This record gives sequence, C-alpha cells and structure tokens, in this order.
Amino acid sequence: MSHVIDGKAIAAAMNEQTARSAAQLRARGIIPVLAVVAATGEESAARYMRSIERAAARVGIECRIHRLPLPASLPQVASKLGELSRDPAVHAVICQNPLPEGAALAAVGSSIAVRKDVDGANPESLGMLAVGLPDAFPPATAAAVLEILRHEHVSLDGRRAVVIGRSSVVGKPAALLLLAENATVTICHSRTRDLAEVCREADVLVVAVGQPQLVNARYVAPGAVVIDVGINPASSGGLVGDVDASAVAGVASAITPVPGGVGPVTTAQLMRHAIRAAISEHIQ
Ligand code: NAD
Repeated sequence: MSHVIDGKAIAAAMNEQTARSAAQLRARGIIPVLAVVAATGEESAARYMRSIERAAARVGIECRIHRLPLPASLPQVASKLGELSRDPAVHAVICQNPLPEGAALAAVGSSIAVRKDVDGANPESLGMLAVGLPDAFPPATAAAVLEILRHEHVSLDGRRAVVIGRSSVVGKPAALLLLAENATVTICHSRTRDLAEVCREADVLVVAVGQPQLVNARYVAPGAVVIDVGINPASSGGLVGDVDASAVAGVASAITPVPGGVGPVTTAQLMRHAIRAAISEHIQ
C-alpha cells in the first residue's frame, strides 16, 4: 500500500515554527498583520476566510478581513489592495476569489506590493520566480507542494516530474519550483494528448486540475509519489481530490490525501510567508 502523507502533521510542525517567529516579533512590539480583501458574498469564500482567520490566530498573526460593499468593481478591489500595500502596519496582503466580473487574480494582483504579496498574486512575483530571483513569494499552494516533497525526503534532482494543470496559482508556479530543484518537468493541461501515458513517466506526479478522481492507476508509474492538489465537492458530501486514491493506492509509493494533504500545508505556508514578510520589513 502507498504511504499516506500526513499534511496535517506537516502543517502542525510548520505552524509551531511560525508561532515561535511571531512570538519573537511580538516581543519586539511588532504585531504581524495579514490583510485579506474580499469582494464576494459566496459562502465558500466566507468559509475559507474564517479558516484563514483561525489559522492566523493560532500562530499569533492578526488577520484583518476587508469586505468591500457589494457589488464591488475591479478598480475598487485594486485600490484597496494598493492602500493596504502602502500601510506600514500591514505586512501581508491577499485577495480572495472570486473577483468581480469573474476576473482572474492577475487583473488586480499588480496592486499588491511584491514584498507583501504572500500568495504570489502579482504577475511580477511569478516573473521573479521564473527567472530565479529570490525576493518574491510563490503562491502558497505551489510552495506547499514543494514543502511536502521536502518533508518526505523525495529527491527531485534529475528526476521526472509531471504537473497536470497550468494555472498561474498552482500548476505553473509548482512547475517552476520543481524546475528550480533540478527536476525534469513536464506540464500537462486540458489539450495534452495521451495524458495517462505522459503521467506514467513521472517519478513525482502533481495533480491540480479540479476534476474529481481524474487520475487513476493508469496514470501512475509503480513507486511514483502523487501529490493531489485538487479540492472538489464529493457527491456524498465532503471533499474529494483529483486522484482516485483507492485506485492508486497499490501503485504509488506515497500519496497526499484529500482532505488532510495539500490543504493544511497551504494554509501553514501562507502563515509562514506572512511572518517572513513581517520579518523582512522590520528586521532584515
Ligand atoms: P484552474 O481551473 O485554474 O486550472 C485547472 C487546470 O487543469 C487548467 O490548466 C486546465 O488546462 C487543466 N485541466 C482541466 N481539465 C483537464 C483534463 N481533463 N486533463 C488535463 N488537464 C486538465 O484550477 P486551479 O486554480 O489551478 O486549481 C486546480 C485544483 O486545485 C482545483 O481542484 C482547486 O480547487 C484546487 N486547489 C487547491 C488548493 C489547496 O490549497 N489544496 C489551492 C488552490 C487550488
């Protein structure tokens, strides 16, 4: 059977470290502040923001949620993000999806100062990641994928990594981070031909598609490590990933579960980024 990677345990270890750093900042009179801008009344977004608030409180970060009066326009969102980026009391800024007019995050991301862009929403942050400049934050989910692989001691140097999904928030930055670790990276997407065959070449398979249980045993080489980023509502209630975990269980050497895999590590990574932003603002 595959080893089931415990995302909650990884997140707990990360949060312990983050809480220590937050306590050190507070001891110097610095309150680390994460600001969230929301221009949506969707319940799933509200649920996510509550979970961010709880996670921040647990590690000693003050989370300030700025709900814009609805309906809000894109310029209003951009203006709020800019205002928070200029506020010296705020160290980290994120923007909640969905945006007005169904816009992509990139439409307003450039209003977040790169040094406070802890979820890699500014296209400049992604560009810096692409050229290997260290001073930008990758999106938390992509960073979480790499953190899990690091924690599990999965070697990447010279290995084959396949990423399914080419979004700017998960697939592309995850591929760039894998490349930076010297993996040989293939990015697949909705137009990829012979997807299962390409995926079977992977030592590490990262799945970020948003299609419940798309990936089954045909997609996985024996012994591969499978990171399931997908979060989809299950027909029975609850959540299901992009990977059919029971089908893959006998083939993969290790797999992240959904829920309890990438999700909690993503939140922990966001908090880690927020603390790093506060530290570099005040101390370095
Ligand atoms: P997205 O819709 O922006 O991108 C999906 C990608 O999958 C696209 O690049 C598309 O080309 C590709 N794709 C779609 N159908 C495909 C198919 N049949 N075969 C191959 N490729 C296909 O989604 P996203 O924002 O990148 O998110 C992907 C998944 O990750 C979603 O389930 C989302 O909920 C989840 N997610 C999880 C976290 C987390 O913290 N765990 C964070 C962000 C997103």
